[in-house]
Order: sequence, then structure tokens, then C-alpha cells
Amino acid sequence: MQSPLVEEARAIIDEAAAVAVLTGAGISTDSGIPDFRGPKGIWTTNPKAEKASNIRYYVSDPEVRKANWAARASGALWANVEPNVGHFALVHLEQRGKLHTLITQNVDELHQRAGSSPERVVEVHGTTRKVACLECEYRDNMEEALERVRSGEEDPACPRCGGLLKSATVSFGQSLDPEDLRRSEVAANEADVFVAIGTTLAVFPINETVMIAKQAGARLIIVNAEPTVMDHLADVVLNEQIADVLPKIVGMG
Ligand SMILES: [Zn+2]
Repeated sequence: MQSPLVEEARAIIDEAAAVAVLTGAGISTDSGIPDFRGPKGIWTTNPKAEKASNIRYYVSDPEVRKANWAARASGALWANVEPNVGHFALVHLEQRGKLHTLITQNVDELHQRAGSSPERVVEVHGTTRKVACLECEYRDNMEEALERVRSGEEDPACPRCGGLLKSATVSFGQSLDPEDLRRSEVAANEADVFVAIGTTLAVFPINETVMIAKQAGARLIIVNAEPTVMDHLADVVLNEQIADVLPKIVGMG
């Protein structure tokens, strides 16, 4: 016998035709990626990493860039993490034909590696698995840049224009991609169910998708270990472990 709230969430998803999902750090913690703001998070344990995540320091200080490249090349920034049952539950949702769009605040590409279709995933904060030039449109896999670092380049430059390379993430001081925001808003407007997973919904502007979905008439399910700032808007709130409840509410068993 499931808890009544889990049953209710499952029934809402069973009835749904188009589910928009928003995921945050909480879905990746079971893969061994600590929430970067949490007590074991990279920003708490390594203040240099926080500097590297601020575009101003990254651009102005070669030492910040070198430390960041060295940490990535050594595998210190979660090189060998694998998707967990939470990610696979969302693959199952897509296989049932119900997933409209998977919006994620995570930069680990674990949704795609679990099997979610890349064209349905919107990475609003970018990805650490790719590099982007800060000057031109050049993008490539992170591994290409890391090979150059391991071969002795401390601060690899863009092979096309010589500009600064950085992980293709949205750092502090950088704007979200307007196209990513637009796709997220369209998903929130078109979904009949919106599920927020592993996020405290405190980060603007992507938390506004919850409001947009609600105003457009979607039902709202929140799954997070802790209460969120938008629990009062939700039809069902599951303050439980994602790995426990997400497979159940998507009908995996
Ligand atoms: Zn370039």
C-alpha cells in the first residue's frame, strides 16, 4: 500500500497528456553529485571553485582559470558519475509518451545519459560536459579541452579565434539563454501537469515556470526532500527521497 499522496500523484500523472518537468540538484545527489551550495558542496569545500563560477573572476584572473582546468582535468569535478533511478524514472515517463519537456537546472547531462531525448531537455544553466568560447560560437566536448590540459596547456584557448574557453555553463554574472527560457515558458504553458523535482524553487527566473504552469491551469506536483517556497501552490507535495517516490509516481512499479 502506497501512501495516499503518492497514489494521488501517480493518478495525476496517469491522467496527464503532457508533463513538463523541472529538475534541480536534488535529483543528482543520489549520483554522488553534492548540491554545490550544501555542506559538502564544491563551493563550500573549495572557495576557488566558487570564484571560477563567477564570470568576472574567470575572465580577469588566469590563476582562477588554471586552477579550474586543473581540477577538471584531474577528475575532481565529478568526472565519473552515473545516472540514478530518479533519472531513469523520467526516461520511463518519456517512454509512456507523456513527457513534454524536461527543464533542468543541472549541468551534469545525467538526464541525457540516462536516456532522455536530448531534444526534450532544456539545460537552463548549461552543461559542464561541453566547452564554449566566450568570444565566438565555438563549442566542443569538454573532453577535447581536457586532453589539451593534460598535454600541458594550462589555460587552453579557443582553437578558432583565440578567445577564452569556459565550460558551457551559465556562470554568475552571465545571462540565461533567451531561447532556453522561451522553451521553458512554452512547456509551462502547454503542459497539463508540471512536476518540480529536487529543487527548492528559490532560483529566479526559472522558478517562474511553476507560476506560469499554474496560471495556465496545470496541476502541480512537487517532489523534494525539504519543503520549497512554492509548496502552497502544489496539488501534491512529496517531501520524500526522490529515488523512493519518483519511480512510483511515474508508474515504474
Ligand atoms: Zn572563439
